[in-house]
Amino acid sequence: MNILLLGKGGQVGWELQRSLSVLGQLTALDFDSTEHCGDFSNPEGVAATVRALRPDVIVNAAAHTAVDKAESEPDFARKLNATTPGLIAAEAAKLGAWLVHYSTDYVFDGSGDEAWAESDATGPLSVYGGTKLEGEELIRASGAKHIILRTSWVYAARGGNFAKTMLRLAQERDRLTVINDQFGAPTGADLLADVTAHAIRHLQSRPEDAGLYHCVAGGVTSWFDYARFVIEQAQKIKPDLKIKATEIAPVATSAFPTPAKRPNNSRLNTAKLQDTFGLTLPHWQHGVQRMLTEIL
Ligand code: NDP
Repeated sequence: MNILLLGKGGQVGWELQRSLSVLGQLTALDFDSTEHCGDFSNPEGVAATVRALRPDVIVNAAAHTAVDKAESEPDFARKLNATTPGLIAAEAAKLGAWLVHYSTDYVFDGSGDEAWAESDATGPLSVYGGTKLEGEELIRASGAKHIILRTSWVYAARGGNFAKTMLRLAQERDRLTVINDQFGAPTGADLLADVTAHAIRHLQSRPEDAGLYHCVAGGVTSWFDYARFVIEQAQKIKPDLKIKATEIAPVATSAFPTPAKRPNNSRLNTAKLQDTFGLTLPHWQHGVQRMLTEIL
């Protein structure tokens, strides 16, 4: 099986380099790759890469993920999150190749407190969420064999993430304030990569299971409880860690105004993914604990 991985340097892309390597011949590209174009600001260039490499499976981990910045550069965000994935899907359809793509809880409006199912109506609040939804729609319309995994609150040991930021701030400041009215599940890039590899294998014999799936770790938390968990666990893992913050205070989203509006309810129902692919998604705390052990 020839696999083309796009966005190899991102959180998920990095882990995919590991998990996809056992499935076949992997070509992994980034925006600055020289041999073949992997730059999503050049949609025709990426389409030409697909035509040249003729992969059996394309995994797209590249995206414009700077949620606030996207508000001031919507055309660029659309190119990366919708136009280029749409063209990749069109090329995949011509080749008969599979396309694996990632999307987000930000396609929803965040109302209520029920976990969103794949069949629920979308209503993005931000340019990022809107352009990711457009990407999904273009892929569906292309006729390509595809799987789209919507996920949330992605973290990885490599690169910056919320947990690392909280640990740093807790060592620098006396008091932390963290949002307690947004709910979701922190999801490891390693978990997403492993699910992706499993799904690709599964789809080779069960192509009828193509489609849209929600893929997040088990359980639900708020950013506030997530921060508290990170700091408590870090102190257990590394007792000599100097935590200066004596207080972690919960605050409403309105205390941190940002250019992009974020959904309050980011809970995603993963029953369809677990049932279809025979998987058990571990509780979010397991992955976060493992990541903390790795970075501390
Ligand atoms: P990252 O931001 O870590 O990775 C995105 C990758 O895309 C980076 O390697 C980035 O490169 C690359 N990229 C940026 N611009 C271009 C370009 N012009 N051409 C090619 N590549 C480019 O994101 P994640 O790994 O966390 O996200 C993976 C997927 O999951 C995305 O589809 C995202 O929308 C989705 N998702 C992510 C969530 C999160 O919390 N992070 C939540 C929900 C969904 P560089 O780093 O150099 O800019």
